[in-house]
Amino acid sequence: MTDSALARAVKADPVGPGEPLFDLRDVGYTYSSRQVALAGVNLTIRPGERVALLGANGSGKSTLLKLLDGVVGPTQGSIRALGLDVAAVAAGEDGFRFHREVGLVFQDPDIQLFSATVLDDVAFGPLQLGLSKEEVRERCDDALREMGIAHLADRAPFELSGGEKKRAAIASVLSLRPQVILLDEPTASLDPRTKWVLVDLIQRMAAAGRTLIVATHELDVVPLIADRVVVLSEEGRIVADGRPAAVLADRDLLVRVNLIHEHLHEHGAVAHSHSHVVSEGHHGGPPPDAGEAPAESAASRDAPIRVPPRSGGPTCARP
Ligand code: ADP
Ligand code: MG
Repeated sequence: MTDSALARAVKADPVGPGEPLFDLRDVGYTYSSRQVALAGVNLTIRPGERVALLGANGSGKSTLLKLLDGVVGPTQGSIRALGLDVAAVAAGEDGFRFHREVGLVFQDPDIQLFSATVLDDVAFGPLQLGLSKEEVRERCDDALREMGIAHLADRAPFELSGGEKKRAAIASVLSLRPQVILLDEPTASLDPRTKWVLVDLIQRMAAAGRTLIVATHELDVVPLIADRVVVLSEEGRIVADGRPAAVLADRDLLVRVNLIHEHLHEHGAVAHSHSHVVSEGHHGGPPPDAGEAPAESAASRDAPIRVPPRSGGPTCARP
């Protein structure tokens, strides 16, 4: 790292209480001038919020996280983040300072883990900051401990299980000690027990006072990891923004944005429709992961939310 880069490696100005960390005005993003991923997005996120970005596949969640991380700039509208213009950050200005404060954990941990050992990956960011050996080591120890993977420090990332890789990828961001952590589908494609371990770890990250923005299409994790839910439609527009309990109780909304779907059932002469979580099997019943949280996990104290059937309507007792 050059001296001038080191000189600029100062903490970004702290954002005062009540001031937004992120302020998005009429933001749009279009890939290759053709594929519209986001349109007309207005969004303000304040320090300490735990936000779930909820939407079906292709609704623009990953694109929105990339914009919040300054990986790309908006093709329409403006984004201010931590007092900086994200278009300028994406163009390379102040990127170093910005990425000390905002860290993105990609959905695919193989993108994030590229070193010979987990420890090397977790140390990569702090080393870029030009910190002393002792401080790098302390940050790595803390991040590995927080993710419960201190015992994996010397393992090669390719030897790890899916859940271990996710934890290593998060640790590689935590070691930078950012105030904002963006997580893209952190619980997707994990086995049930590992999924609830991740939920527990996300809750701990939030309890440590960080601002968390988590993209997911899994309804059951939302009330456990977020105090605010922003719902994206399949057209990449924000169609709801509110408390998890209120948003998740809005069955018509969830059907409209393709997070639950409806089936018409016929039992002899009787026909009725009812809803399913999209990721759930057709015949419903509790998801295979329900109740598999680790004993000490808050996830086991708060039952995962179930999407209610149409009020007063019949439930499907048999296929
Ligand atoms: P989500 O994360 O909610 O699944 P994405 O942000 O990945 O949604 O994608 C939003 C939309 O942008 C989709 O229509 C997707 O096909 C499109 N898209 C995503 N990445 C690219 C890309 N690199 N090139 C072109 N279109 C893309
Ligand atoms: Mg995505």
